[in-house]
Amino acid sequence: MNRRYKSLLILLSAFTSSHLSAQPAEHRVLACVGGKVYPSPTSAPIEDAAVLTEDGKISAVAAGVVFKLPASAEVLDCKGKAIVAGFWNSHVHFETGWHGAADAPADKLEAHMQEMLTRWGFTTVWDLGSEPGNTLALRKRVEAGEVPGPQILMAGDIFPENGHPIYLPPDMELPEAGNAAEAMLMARGYLSMGLDGIKLFTGAYMGNKPVVNMDAAIVKAAVDVAHAQGKPVFTHPQNHVGVDNALAGGVDILAHTIPSEGSYTADELARMKQQHTALIPTLTLWTTVVPDPTIQDQLVQVGVNELKAYFSEGGTILFGTDVGFTTKYNTMQEFEFMGRAMGWQDVLASLTTNPAEYFREPSKGRLEKGMDADLVVLNGDPAADVRNFAKVAYTIRGGKVIYSTK
Ligand SMILES: [Zn+2]
Repeated sequence: MNRRYKSLLILLSAFTSSHLSAQPAEHRVLACVGGKVYPSPTSAPIEDAAVLTEDGKISAVAAGVVFKLPASAEVLDCKGKAIVAGFWNSHVHFETGWHGAADAPADKLEAHMQEMLTRWGFTTVWDLGSEPGNTLALRKRVEAGEVPGPQILMAGDIFPENGHPIYLPPDMELPEAGNAAEAMLMARGYLSMGLDGIKLFTGAYMGNKPVVNMDAAIVKAAVDVAHAQGKPVFTHPQNHVGVDNALAGGVDILAHTIPSEGSYTADELARMKQQHTALIPTLTLWTTVVPDPTIQDQLVQVGVNELKAYFSEGGTILFGTDVGFTTKYNTMQEFEFMGRAMGWQDVLASLTTNPAEYFREPSKGRLEKGMDADLVVLNGDPAADVRNFAKVAYTIRGGKVIYSTK
């Protein structure tokens, strides 16, 4: 029998000795023991349970068991804690404070990664626009294990002609597509660089001047390029025209609500539902765009109402906060706002199963045998208070702890 293994207590039937002896020398084991496990948003919780991970995959989720563990196993005491699948943030930017990622010291990048993402439980993120070369370099360092961080998916930005948003530095060079051919060229360029999707500004905010919208024909040109390669397209809509042109052109994901417009039209909601469009609410963002707290509250409430309108029609909701553009990294307020429109299980779905399904990563989103070992351990039960999703004790990606409160 394998001498690397200590004496056992109870052996889980699925975890047989033949299974153990088949493992390679670098066998990596991490167990979260004693927590309340929520395997998915729709399944019943398992009390006093353990999650066993081996070599980056979940090998068992069960109640009341003591696993036989190798001496090298890492064991996390999760008594009194809740265990859920790793979170997705489907709207971030490696922009503010992320420059020079190719050469920055790893510990500095790790500290920023913790502050912005991993201490909030994120194991996968969608970057919806940054300097691609810089973020590709960062992603490489994360994947090499040099900087503990989430899986990073990237979308390349395309702006409408003369649509340089007022909140971006005027000297920042932005790719503006004046016609369909230019949009196709830009989309192909991003995907050939290894990016995973496209982000369009179908409505660019120009401050006191009118919103600049992207024509539906230009939208469709970029969408066709992305969809031909099986890649998703996001949009920053800004107003009704920005939503409508995005829907007409076949965009997949609305990256924000449109609080300045008051509500979606019935036609928009019907079309979003029919086209299986996903919505990222970014409600906390609306507290940062105007200084007046009364107007902030109004914008947030309109955003909540828009979220509720689409969610109640069965629309797909993806969690996202626009961090890296905003520096409001704390996710608690977003959970509180989303909780006004949906139940805590629906919020969990927006963090886990919805993005895993929408972006076709079937090995993520749930805690089951065979799934990726992406987990979040919470210092509080989200069923008791949705804000507990922000109280992260451990973030685990691929069976490795990438954030710990210790
Ligand atoms: Zn953004």
